[in-house]
Amino acid sequence: MRRIAVINQKGGVGKTTTTANLGAALALQGRRVVLVDMDAQANLSLSLDVTADSGAPSSYTVLLGEASFGAAVRQTGVPGLSLVPANIDLSGAEMELASAMGREFLLRDALAAWAEEEQKRSARAPADYVLFDCPPSLGLLSLNALAAAGEVLITLQTEFLALQGMSKLVEIVQLLRKRLNPELAITGILPCLYDSRLKLAREVLGEIRKYFPGQVLPQPIRSNVKLAEAPSYGKTIFEYAPGSNGADDYMKAAREILRGESRDSTLAGLPAFQEKYAPPPGALVTPAPRRVPPPRRAAAPKPAEPKPSAPKAVDVPAIGRPASAPTVPAPASAPERVPLRAEDLPPLPPEVFEILSRRGSFS
Ligand code: ADP
Ligand code: MG
Repeated sequence: MRRIAVINQKGGVGKTTTTANLGAALALQGRRVVLVDMDAQANLSLSLDVTADSGAPSSYTVLLGEASFGAAVRQTGVPGLSLVPANIDLSGAEMELASAMGREFLLRDALAAWAEEEQKRSARAPADYVLFDCPPSLGLLSLNALAAAGEVLITLQTEFLALQGMSKLVEIVQLLRKRLNPELAITGILPCLYDSRLKLAREVLGEIRKYFPGQVLPQPIRSNVKLAEAPSYGKTIFEYAPGSNGADDYMKAAREILRGESRDSTLAGLPAFQEKYAPPPGALVTPAPRRVPPPRRAAAPKPAEPKPSAPKAVDVPAIGRPASAPTVPAPASAPERVPLRAEDLPPLPPEVFEILSRRGSFS
């Protein structure tokens, strides 16, 4: 059973979108996948239209020991894809658990107890993959996910300062390896919300690949408005827009993740990656729009269709981002950005390279 924490302490870098759609891609490749929503904003749960009322089994009640992990697992609309939902109660967990014994291990132990019980009952692991969607901070909830995980997938946005904070994140992973979880490995870095029309995005992607040679998944997740729209229908991209770039990119990410299966003996014998994945007939239905627009999301702005010849792609707004928090710093009127040079980026500690070089390479 591979356990992967999708993490970055920044918000809006594609963690939740990746957890939902990478999870769905893995499920469409025949894997049994359980997602765990560890963010009190419950974006993942809402994205997949699985909600838990206060008091109902959720990641919060699992952490508190009020529900078993298995009791909180719920089926989603995608065959093979289930979810432990979150709700706003989780926002109190960090405080409530501050003095609990072994507070970093609550999720790990709950997951292990479920896996052991199911193993006894059915003589196999209850899932092939568990993916944890982490909140945008490195607090107790993220630590619980990192202690329960065997691997880390870092999503980042190809924006200026994308690497800022990476050294902190890698330091934390290193500390966790020493103190909590010696097996924790960095599986890869997945650039998200990538717009190849932006010179800045191309430059940042180049820098990331330079800093982390061989660790960046080869296909970045391109900015694709379908990915921003799908959650408001409670659907994954494979149900909402199976022919989109978003579906394509996440399936390619799944292919890279599947490559790592050889390192996990429990996954031996699973079928190889299928270029033409085929959900069971009728399994994925074209969704009807929700009757009531979900309050949590502003309508995604309709992006300008990319024109191959458009010379000034810098004017295209970042898709799916709140207008109040632009991530691409230059205003539309600025014709050229400050060139991004490696020297301007914060230095990364040597351990970064040491940690990353221990794992297989994507290149
Ligand atoms: P995080 O979980 O890191 O905060 P999200 O996955 O919620 O980030 O993404 C932030 C916003 O960007 C969401 O509105 C989401 O729908 C949108 N988004 C994420 N990835 C893409 C993409 N590749 N293309 C377009 N919009 C995206
Ligand atoms: Mg999120």
